[in-house]
Amino acid sequence: MGKDTAIEWTEATLSLGWGCRKVDSACLNCYMFRLSKQHGIDPTKPRILDIERKDKELTRWKNKTMVFINDMTDTFGEFYSFDLIEQWHQLFERHPDKQFQLLTKRIGRAMLFYRERPVPKNVWLGCSIGERSRLFRIEQLKKIDAKIRFVSFEPVIEDLGDFSLEGIEWAIVGGESDYYHPRPMKPEWAESIRQICERDKVAFFFKQLGGKHKCECCNAWGCAKLNGQIYREYPKFEIQKLAYK
Ligand code: SF4
Repeated sequence: MGKDTAIEWTEATLSLGWGCRKVDSACLNCYMFRLSKQHGIDPTKPRILDIERKDKELTRWKNKTMVFINDMTDTFGEFYSFDLIEQWHQLFERHPDKQFQLLTKRIGRAMLFYRERPVPKNVWLGCSIGERSRLFRIEQLKKIDAKIRFVSFEPVIEDLGDFSLEGIEWAIVGGESDYYHPRPMKPEWAESIRQICERDKVAFFFKQLGGKHKCECCNAWGCAKLNGQIYREYPKFEIQKLAYK
């Protein structure tokens, strides 16, 4: 499998839109806002990118399986119509050899969308959570019938306490990385989530401790080790047959 991104838990990223609006405190240092400013783009005015071009791009990626979708926006943002989101889902279905990793903070809107159509088999549906007050998203996610459900705890900005991950296949954990003011994550907060994963039989992926600097031992922000060890687990998935030549 090839790799075309610095994001540790995927192989490639594909943006179908660009722009978003902040919804919680974990969004404070969103990298899309920083990148938009560098490119002179207003990040609060989401734009839709050319879907046909993206379709061709996916067809060329024969050596990549996992694709993180919409890393520069939120698929279920209120600024995108359900018609458009449906077109994106048809794109996912045209590429059954890919596993699309779709993360959203608007899981309530995802629930509404999936009342009308099933989650494609090759879409991993996830929600992002960085603080206690947003843990309710896990319960919303559990109500959606997706083959793989996952939670990205990133950036973790406080101790999340105890909660259930039963029915969830995968958890990614990371602290905030930012050149200016990263909010620190204590290793014990990450360890607490790891123990929940162990108890609830959830694949656990520890991305980084976070901070301003990359670690000399592993090149991750802060460090990629927890308890002196690397945790890079994935959920089990099947690659479907190619539908195109
Ligand atoms: S929801 Fe995601 S993309 Fe949107 S502002 Fe928050 S972190 Fe950024």
